Amino acid sequence: MNDASATPTAGLAAMPLGEDYSDIRAAIRAICKAYPAKYWRDCEDADSYPDAFVDELTRSGYLAALIPETYGGAGLPLRAAAVILEEIHAAGCNAGAVHAQMYIMGTLLRHGSDVQKQQYLPEIAAGRLRLQAFGVTEPTTGSDTTQLKTKAVRDGDHYVINGQKVWTSRALKSDLMLLLARTTPADQVKKRSDGLSVFLLDIRTALGHGLTIRKLDTMINHQTTEVFFDNVRVPAANLIGQQDKGFRYILDGMNAERILVASECLGDARFFIRRASNYAGERVVFGRPIGQNQGVQFPIARAYADYRAADLMNRAACALFDAGQPCGPEANMAKLQASEASWKAGEAAMQTFGGFSYAREFDIERKWRETRIFQIAPISTNLILSYLGEHVLGMPRSY
Ligand SMILES: Cc1cc2nc3c(=O)[nH]c(=O)nc-3n(C[C@H](O)[C@H](O)[C@H](O)COP(=O)(O)OP(=O)(O)OC[C@H]3O[C@@H](n4cnc5c(N)ncnc54)[C@H](O)[C@@H]3O)c2cc1C
Repeated sequence: MNDASATPTAGLAAMPLGEDYSDIRAAIRAICKAYPAKYWRDCEDADSYPDAFVDELTRSGYLAALIPETYGGAGLPLRAAAVILEEIHAAGCNAGAVHAQMYIMGTLLRHGSDVQKQQYLPEIAAGRLRLQAFGVTEPTTGSDTTQLKTKAVRDGDHYVINGQKVWTSRALKSDLMLLLARTTPADQVKKRSDGLSVFLLDIRTALGHGLTIRKLDTMINHQTTEVFFDNVRVPAANLIGQQDKGFRYILDGMNAERILVASECLGDARFFIRRASNYAGERVVFGRPIGQNQGVQFPIARAYADYRAADLMNRAACALFDAGQPCGPEANMAKLQASEASWKAGEAAMQTFGGFSYAREFDIERKWRETRIFQIAPISTNLILSYLGEHVLGMPRSY
């Protein structure tokens, strides 16, 4: 076993406890007030994107939290972005329509050229350009990302893309897509992780020129799609970093992604716990509040304990990340624990509300459906456990 207890501690000294970034939290709560449960229900009924909510978050600058000030963003640490997403979810809203911009920004920030950053970041920060789509998953390879088949072949000053992606969320609501494609055949690379490259694809110019996007019908309103590439030409200038090294650039952004996903889960857990404990105190059956029964009270209390533990792990991961220290184990554990905590809290809320949990106006069933995704996407629980088993505990690779 590797020394799993050797968590670096220097970065943890700055780990905040309690309600940090209280000004940002208050501002997000104020924005979310204007988007109550009915707004989200109506969007779902119409299968529509929450444009007004996204526009307001963009205008207020919160979506540009991670973009450096030199490019027109707020230049805030990851912890601030985590707080923004957590508060959106705790208010009963859903950041799924916008979060990709924060999740995937790091790849462009860390590995994009100066020219690319100058070209795109100020426009994204100003809300004139949307970077909301992330094309990684493919139908035939799934979690086995290094084996993906969508090809990009160099042709003069362009690459020509052929293949298919699936679950590419918000592709119809984004101007740009961060695309991972194969530039060297899998049987010609020394390492499994070589041979893939990242491109910044301009969806607006590619649509109708070989790019086809079809919406998928899913159990939550996530505006997710399947994407087909038929000789789509992408300028070579839109290659991010070096050819064939793209998988590493994507991996590089994964700790931030795990932390931000965990933050959304924590927000969901807070929503469920608040709603369930309030309802348990108000709903009277057999002449007393249902929350007086331990069978109702304890699952909510346990969900709270799980949420708090996951929150501490996520704060630790974030503190390490913001201090520039390795945080892979903490980020992965935070995502694992937070996704399970939000699910348990959702389950406790469903049971507490009884039959009324099925009434859409109570908003419990929507959030319950929405929070389930976090155990599957953007990475499933088993893959996190495999990472911990292999990279932290030194056991044989299981996949
Ligand atoms: C609503 C939604 C939105 C999404 N948005 C995006 C997006 O914007 N961009 C994008 O690129 N992708 C997106 N995804 C895809 C998501 O990241 C994948 O669904 C996820 O990574 C799992 O891959 P898969 O569905 O192919 O499952 P598979 O890889 O087929 O796995 C199925 C199950 O088997 C398990 N499994 C597989 N192999 C092993 C193993 N060796 N050991 C143990 N267990 C194993 C997995 O853990 C999983 O539980 C989205 C998915 C959904 C549902």
